Order: sequence, then structure tokens, then C-alpha cells
Amino acid sequence: MHVVLSGGVGAARFLKGLVRVVPPEEIIAVVNVADDLWLHGLRICPDLDSITYHLAGVVDPQRQWGRGGESDVVASELERFGAPRWFTLGDRDLATHLHRTERLGAGLPLSSVTEEVTAAFGVDVRLLPATDDEVTTRVHTADGRDLHFQEYWVRERGEPTVSRVELDGGAAAAPAPGVVEALLDADSVLLAPSNPVVSIDTIRAIPGIDAALRQTPAPIVGVSPIVGGAVVRGMADRLLPSVGAEVSALGVARHYGDLLDGWVVDRRDAQASAAVRDELGIECRVTDTMMDDPEVAGALAGTVLELADGLRR
Ligand code: GDP
Ligand code: CA
Repeated sequence: MHVVLSGGVGAARFLKGLVRVVPPEEIIAVVNVADDLWLHGLRICPDLDSITYHLAGVVDPQRQWGRGGESDVVASELERFGAPRWFTLGDRDLATHLHRTERLGAGLPLSSVTEEVTAAFGVDVRLLPATDDEVTTRVHTADGRDLHFQEYWVRERGEPTVSRVELDGGAAAAPAPGVVEALLDADSVLLAPSNPVVSIDTIRAIPGIDAALRQTPAPIVGVSPIVGGAVVRGMADRLLPSVGAEVSALGVARHYGDLLDGWVVDRRDAQASAAVRDELGIECRVTDTMMDDPEVAGALAGTVLELADGLRR
């Protein structure tokens, strides 16, 4: 079993590659839920949904999130009542949130509801929310505000200077059923090229998960989300400095530190590989990591698994 710590879009693109080289039944994605929010009484889980829509082949190909062929009738009607429009809620997407919220209300844990949602979309990769408990990334800004991650990221386009990021509810949360077991039994643990601060660290911060990562006999191999010294998409470059990390393939490897056994960087960052090996003692591979082309994503997944394989022996 290959277990992939996953954020949203970066992880979804990587998982699309991984299913080209291993059967989906042999993949478990442990997914960040700290971006989740309540809106109009609905529970919205952006990272779980991004992955589901990508793997189901129904994602919007331009935006790389949300549903393709989307409309926004409900959102425009909600404006009538003064509802803010900064968070996009498409009509098709709303059906997912409606179903999820109804099932959560009936008492099902998020992990069970996620199983229902992925089954409905014909997704065979198992998606496990990092936790069934409600946890939220709060972004403290230099101008003294305490924002929900989505207010910072979507409403304010990641513009405020960040002083600190905090996982609200983190200390009291528990890993969702199956998460720790999956990590301990894994053949390999992979860190998707996701936002290190608000996707991967927020999974690791759930009590018990980091310990399982330290304890697992499986090799841990990550893919750099930083390509050519910049983010591919998103605004991770604005968050890495808030945890004292440099915005580079080497900087992210340093940030993960001795958690990693292997690190895969883009050709544009080939110069980082010597320092990853010599300074950090982490095996490093250089390859194409821009996953716009699914074939490249598949080849990248192959390289990652091969590196993990070599490290297992
Ligand atoms: P989000 O939750 O939707 O923001 O997605 P993630 O946390 O999974 O991923 C965001 C990160 O993925 C950003 O830092 C991007 O640089 C990175 N990313 C997205 N697409 C690619 C890609 O094709 N290759 C690589 N190497 N990184 C990518
Ligand atoms: Ca996310």
C-alpha cells in the first residue's frame, strides 16, 4: 500500500499520475481538512473535493479545481440576500456539500461520508481525512487579524503579511480511523507536492500522525512543490517564510528535515540535489515535475516509487 499525504490541487495532480503506475486499490490518500469551512450551513472540504473531482475526471480543466461545466445560479441568487461572493460555490459542487452536510448531520463521521462521496464518483483510491474532528488553519496577520485560512487565501488573495499560522482544534483532534494503521503498514509513504505549511504540516499536526511517520518502517519520499524557486500555483511562497523556511526545493526539504528519506526535485532545481544529499543526508532525484501533462505526472510517480523501492532495501 502506498500512502500519500495530500493537500488539494498539487496532490490531486500527483495522484492522477500515481494511478497510472499502480492500481488505485493500492493507494490511500491521507487528506488535509484544515482548509474546511462552514458556508450557508454547509460543510465544504476543498482538498477532499479537489482530489475526488480530479480522480473522477470531472474537474474543471482550466481552474484545476471545482467541477467542469459548472454554473452559479444558486450563488447569484444568494447574492440577493447579501451573501458574500468571495468563495466560489458552483451548482454542481453544491450537491456534494449538501449530501455531505446531511450525512454529517445524521451523525456519520467525515471519513464515512467521504467513502460515500468517492464511491458515488467512482473513485477507487481510498481517501482518508486526516481527522474526523473539526480543525481549522487560522492565519494571524502582521496587522493583528486572526483569519480563517479561506478568508486569508481566497478573500484576501494571500496578500496580508503572515505572522503566524495556527491549527485551531489541532491539539484535541485524533487521526481518522485507519490513518495511523495505514502509515504503519505502508510500503511507502509519499508527500505530495502540496503546500508544506497549510496542507502537509496540518496533517502532521494531528496528534499521533507525526509519531506514526517517525515509527513507520516505510521509506518517506516527497516531491518538491517549489519549481525553479517559485510555486507552481497557489501562494505557498507567502507562507513558507512564516515558518522560517526558504522558498526553494532545498528549503522545503530542510523544513521536512529528517522526516524524509528521499526528495524529488524538478530539473530546474537540479542544483539543489547535491545539498539535499550532502547537507541533509536525503536521497535526491531530479526529474520533470510539472504535471500539466498526465504522462509527465505518471513518469514522476514512477520515479518517486522507484526511489522509495530503492530506499526500502
Ligand atoms: P491546494 O490545497 O489546492 O492549494 O493544493 P496543495 O496544497 O496540494 O498544493 C499546492 C502546491 O502544489 C503549490 O505549492 C504548488 O506549487 C504545487 N503544485 C501544483 N501543481 C504542481 C505540479 O504540477 N508540480 C509540482 N512540483 N508542484 C505542483
Ligand atoms: Ca488546500
